[in-house]
Amino acid sequence: MLAFRLIRSVISPATAIFASKQLRCEAWPFVVLCLFAITSNTSHAVEKWITVGHSGPFTLKSEYQDDEHAELLDELADLQLDLSATLKLKITKKPIQIYLFRHKRSYQNYLSQRVPEGTSRQALFVKGDRFSQVYAYAHWGYDTDIRHEGTHAVLHNALPYLPMWLDEGLAEYFEETALNRASNHPHLKAMRWSMRLGSSPSLSNLEKKSELSEFGASEYRESWGYVHFFLHGGDDARQVLVEYLAEIQANRPPGKMSRFATERIPQFDRRVADHLSSWK
Ligand SMILES: [Zn+2]
Repeated sequence: MLAFRLIRSVISPATAIFASKQLRCEAWPFVVLCLFAITSNTSHAVEKWITVGHSGPFTLKSEYQDDEHAELLDELADLQLDLSATLKLKITKKPIQIYLFRHKRSYQNYLSQRVPEGTSRQALFVKGDRFSQVYAYAHWGYDTDIRHEGTHAVLHNALPYLPMWLDEGLAEYFEETALNRASNHPHLKAMRWSMRLGSSPSLSNLEKKSELSEFGASEYRESWGYVHFFLHGGDDARQVLVEYLAEIQANRPPGKMSRFATERIPQFDRRVADHLSSWK
């Protein structure tokens, strides 16, 4: 049982649901939750689905026809390759099924029968033994939701666990399109404003938070900020993240990143602050 996740409820004797709450960026006043299940016994009445296609481990099924869906599917396959190449992770072929609903109402109706805890969420990731599932519905920016949940799905297929800050920080980073990830995420501007107003990101504070109620907008933003530093703050920073994830993948718990990074990156806190203040 992962100590850093809150068990929200049990939907069947075999299924425990874990949830993490995500408040999107300030320009996006929605709430997205990602649900994680050790096992899933959800089944699907498939007759209404249009299968858009398969790409990598992803299968995309939609309630409606749209030319953009094929493009999104290609993007997801690239996302998995990017995650593997960037983080040096051994990615599994475990299937990830994506269900896209035309309306919020049909999404909620569907989930109410299978994952009732997820009906208030904007998008959902359910981890299963044989395959994982992502649920989302059409609205402005739904592709961002699917990339976010798809990132969780790929990471959880590859790794036995992830600290909450790193799980969400990576999902926030990779939810943007490949062209926008490094410099155009709204978190960057918000992060700078918050630092100008005197707030400093604190990894050790993020690592103390293990309950949904403790993880809000600033925690998502700071988690993204640390991931951005590890990916763009220099070769040594990226190497530290790669080594940390390799230890997790090898089932050798590396301890807290705040300590792991401080031991390997001189003036770690200062490097993070300088990076986030000066990144263009
Ligand atoms: Zn998430």
